[in-house]
Amino acid sequence: ELNLLIDEFIDLIKSSNNIYLASHVQPDGDNIGSLLALGRALEKMNKDINIVKVDSIPKNFQFLPNMHFFQEPNIDEDIDLFIALDSGDMERLGVAKEIALKSKKIVNIDHHITNNNFGDLNIVSPLASSTGEIVYHIIKEMNIDIDEDIATCIYVAISTDTGSFMYDSTTMETHLIAADLLDKNIDLNKIIVNIYQSKTLEKTKLFIKSLNTLKIFKNGKIAIVKTTQKMLNDCGASIEDAEGLVSFIRDIEGVEVACILKEIDKKEIKISLRSKKEVDVSKISLKFNGGGHKRAAGCTIYENIDDAKKIILKEIYNYI
Ligand code: 5GP
Ligand code: MN
Ligand code: MN
Repeated sequence: ELNLLIDEFIDLIKSSNNIYLASHVQPDGDNIGSLLALGRALEKMNKDINIVKVDSIPKNFQFLPNMHFFQEPNIDEDIDLFIALDSGDMERLGVAKEIALKSKKIVNIDHHITNNNFGDLNIVSPLASSTGEIVYHIIKEMNIDIDEDIATCIYVAISTDTGSFMYDSTTMETHLIAADLLDKNIDLNKIIVNIYQSKTLEKTKLFIKSLNTLKIFKNGKIAIVKTTQKMLNDCGASIEDAEGLVSFIRDIEGVEVACILKEIDKKEIKISLRSKKEVDVSKISLKFNGGGHKRAAGCTIYENIDDAKKIILKEIYNYI
């Protein structure tokens, strides 16, 4: 069934000239890796490639090949085909939403269980570990040779979205794909050092400050931390530097649901949720128009950070 959709996608590519891809807001490794891998594959099919940069690309990913595909979102041409990757709904596309709506066709390639099928063609596979895994199958089906550039990007997508092959979504298939990618002579050490072992001192200071706000509820089953604008200022850190904090507190013994509240603005609190064994956190985030997966999800609450904390905690309590 997925293969039929992929074939339809390949036909669409062949009949389209002006193709645009776009990242989601606060792009992660799966998003960036999938975009650059598919972008490179399309280039190999002699297509002009444009990836709309909706948000800044974290420093850790800037070593990836073909970063020049990314461009600012000031587009005034007619678009035949718009491809969204790793985005559960159109709001995730940020400023690229307008570009998508103006294009002739939208293709939605994703693995979020909460995906609302906003595309004209939807290649959505909730069992896939990552969008990168779906992109791998697409590129295979295209009969495009998986070169070192493509392999590197897909490896990054899969590695980051499986929590380094630890989430339940990791299957035998995931490992077989990873093995095939390693066979393409990718520089694994370079990937690991860039992605996992290059935390800045500013980020580390932010971790120290945020972790100091740790609160535990329900006999140790719920863990919550906060990151405020003041902390970012004090540490010289940016909001992306909070990435990784929520999984850090999930890893505390006995914790089932971990939550971070990130103060984007006085009344705009971005929430990230993680679970370990039982709770499906995507259900919690859906209550606030967010989305995600069983073990990793997020949403935004438009209240001040203390009120947002009470609201999300109350909702988490319903699941523990
Ligand atoms: P994170 O907590 O790392 O930002 O995101 C965890 C997962 O939840 C990711 O798969 C991400 O796509 C999804 N997610 C996070 N925030 C939102 C949101 O506001 N809306 C939707 N639809 N998904 C989100
Ligand atoms: Mn993502
Ligand atoms: Mn993903």
